[in-house]
Amino acid sequence: LGPTVCVGEILVEIVATTVGDGFLEAQPLVGPFASGAPAIFISQCGRLGGAAAMVGAVGDDDFGRVNIDRLKRDGVDVSTIAVHPDYPTGSAFVRYRKDGSRDFVYNIARSAAARFGWSPRVSDLINRTGHLHVMGSALSVPSAREVIDKAVDIVKARGGTLSVDPNIRKELQLDVETERRFLRLVAAADLLLPSGQELERAAGITGEANAIRRLFEIGVNEIVLKRGAEGATYFGRNGERIDAPAFLVEEVDPTGAGDCFGGAYLTCRRLGMSPDEALTYGSAAGARNVTVRGPMEGAGTRQELDAFIASTERLS
Ligand code: ADP
Repeated sequence: LGPTVCVGEILVEIVATTVGDGFLEAQPLVGPFASGAPAIFISQCGRLGGAAAMVGAVGDDDFGRVNIDRLKRDGVDVSTIAVHPDYPTGSAFVRYRKDGSRDFVYNIARSAAARFGWSPRVSDLINRTGHLHVMGSALSVPSAREVIDKAVDIVKARGGTLSVDPNIRKELQLDVETERRFLRLVAAADLLLPSGQELERAAGITGEANAIRRLFEIGVNEIVLKRGAEGATYFGRNGERIDAPAFLVEEVDPTGAGDCFGGAYLTCRRLGMSPDEALTYGSAAGARNVTVRGPMEGAGTRQELDAFIASTERLS
């Protein structure tokens, strides 16, 4: 039915290599790494060999080229990534605190990442898209909203499917309009990929079981709840539940785990695998990615994930 398409922000990330608690402390940095949750997701789809394309924008600069080269190498169709002549590529500086939390300094709103729109090229792609993936974070980017609204309608009308990763930090208050869009998107989703408390937030109800029931009532078909180092759980419409234990790895950089998990899970499902098999690849992709510094540097090909699965113990 056509490629998997992801719409949203494309960034470079520059990451501190030490852990500290003072924001003004000078720290050794590494990067730039290709990033942006939607870009990480689509990179993992491409590496696994699923047909994949990205809609977004970068600036006409080296940071933009880092992203385009990277996604091209991963097998992603980059012809709908616009190169903006006047705005720089989006960027994020990331620093890790001693308690495991992260601080970000973002430049997204004033970058090319927030300046793309519907175009004849995007229209042509969306009209042959089989699956659309949307990250909740993209809803905060005004130009992405229009593209997402149109794309959801077109893809669903032609019998394609939609997956949604809420990707909303728990402390983030969405404005009324964004919250409304978010809930509409959840209701249109075939596959939902929440992590932690996003499950209850997407369902608008407290309690895991209540949330799952409510989401199936409003039309979601499949839910995969991500639980970080504790693994992931699949819930099917007919009461099926599969718990996927996490692989035992040493976490170097947690950024991108959920996006790699989602990209691998979705691609495996689209390639015809069962939820159980897709969960194994998703869990492997998430775990492998946290062992490498950089948001998508540890995403894996089929061969790399098979080797990882064969050689890595899982929680029992
Ligand atoms: P998100 O980044 O969306 O919050 P998670 O952190 O839950 O998502 O990560 C997604 C998946 O990646 C998890 O369900 C798990 O399978 C795997 N994963 C993430 N962190 C680790 C870790 N430290 N060790 C092993 N697996 C992990």
